[in-house]
Amino acid sequence: MHQDSNHSPEEALKMNPFPASWLPVAADSDFPLWNLPFGIIHNAWLKPRAATRIGDTVVDLSVLAEAGYFSTLPQDLVRVFRQDSLNDFIALGKPVWKAVRERLLSIFSEEDGSLRDKVVFRNQALLSAKEVEMLLPVRVGDYTDFYSSLEHATNVGLMFRDPKNALLPNWKHLPVAYHGHSSSIMVSGTPVKRPSGQINPGNDGPVFSPSRNLDFELEMAFVVGKDNPSGSSVSTAEAEDHIFGMMIFNDLSARDIQKWEYVPLGPFLSKNFGSVVSPWIVTMEALEPFRVAGPPQDPVLPYLSFEGKRSFDIRLEVWIQPEGAEAKRVCLSNFRYLYWNMAQQLAHHTVNGCNMRVGDLCASGTISGPDRESFGSLLEITWNGRDSIQYSDGRERTFLEDHDVVVMKASCEKDGLRMGFGECVTRILPALQTLSK
Ligand code: CA
Repeated sequence: MHQDSNHSPEEALKMNPFPASWLPVAADSDFPLWNLPFGIIHNAWLKPRAATRIGDTVVDLSVLAEAGYFSTLPQDLVRVFRQDSLNDFIALGKPVWKAVRERLLSIFSEEDGSLRDKVVFRNQALLSAKEVEMLLPVRVGDYTDFYSSLEHATNVGLMFRDPKNALLPNWKHLPVAYHGHSSSIMVSGTPVKRPSGQINPGNDGPVFSPSRNLDFELEMAFVVGKDNPSGSSVSTAEAEDHIFGMMIFNDLSARDIQKWEYVPLGPFLSKNFGSVVSPWIVTMEALEPFRVAGPPQDPVLPYLSFEGKRSFDIRLEVWIQPEGAEAKRVCLSNFRYLYWNMAQQLAHHTVNGCNMRVGDLCASGTISGPDRESFGSLLEITWNGRDSIQYSDGRERTFLEDHDVVVMKASCEKDGLRMGFGECVTRILPALQTLSK
């Protein structure tokens, strides 16, 4: 990036949104310099701390802050970067996140020698991605799961309700959601035990059993970046200032438990045994070049109307790898298929005066597209077990089996340049051995 003295870093970035770094970045890396996601790292000799990533290099932000690399910023970044979650950093507000991003773009751009040329010091700040473990990046307060894909809601309605009225009458008027359980949200790589519970396989009364229909749900989640007090609401125009960034979200779902429990109050034990997020939060600033319009909508009430492009072109993939077999891609979808956008979700969530807090998480709901290849759950791909996914070694899958590994990927591409979210990886472990109940 050539940055002459007449332009601020922000202006230079507008002129060239894809600057190069002096750190090596492979062409297919999810983490070029213009991504700069935020996460929490640790290992045997480092206490948890905030980091970003460029290529395969992880940057310890607490070391940079301590050495004065953010000294032009008024906030106490050393303190917030030495925490085991990003909440205190996020709470400093959007001007600070943007200023940190701009400083990092400058420090790591090709022609800046301020860190590059300090060879001894820079080794304290730079680590290989292989050297560190990623922790859950935010302490999640409340968690809400929307149901914002028209195709997903239609598919579920076709399977389980009246095919002539697959969508319930409210669906195109409000972003439907349920409140989930935040404590069972875990970071990518954490294995999840198959849940047991009440299922009603023959429709002649329940039995207690490990779930036989364990599924993934391909979703994205956004992290709330600004409190709104109880009694206040956030408009669609203000909403993006209240969003810090996004992660991949796998909302594991036990379909058989769900089917028996969800009427009348919605999902409960079928969803709260484990939901998995990718470890790096990609900021709204990094996503800006990939902004697109969402699908056309039917007329909505004024508080849900919005201006401009409010969706993002994010390619989404799901791969399933049975133990000892090759991984197979089972889904190719896109975030832009979502009917309701994040601004509408947040405006609706707060329209009654519901207070949101920094670190709250809102997931999108399963992101399905128009054709079977783009369906975001096994429920839809196999049409509730009617069809199966074939593997080259003869195995087949209708739902997840023990020791299967589910890998979700998300990436953006524009003008031949790309960035991504890394991976969201989940291994399924066998159910706990439980006494018969
Ligand atoms: Ca879900």
